[in-house]
Amino acid sequence: MPIHEFKCTECGKEFDELIMPGKEATADCPDCGAKDCEKLLSCGNVRPNGIPSGMGGYREPCKGCSGGSCS
Ligand SMILES: [Zn+2]
Repeated sequence: MPIHEFKCTECGKEFDELIMPGKEATADCPDCGAKDCEKLLSCGNVRPNGIPSGMGGYREPCKGCSGGSCS
């Protein structure tokens, strides 16, 4: 399920929001109603330092090429 984590920039509330494919990943804070909630990285996303969380979206570096991006 495409669940994204958000953190409210107003009150700091962290919450999950189901974002349908094709829709913009935005959410309103359920506590204070702020609209510019910050999207957090969650399971399945690559972390800022480039190390994957291991929950998907990551493949072992390809042994057949140097780039690691071939299929
Ligand atoms: Zn809030």
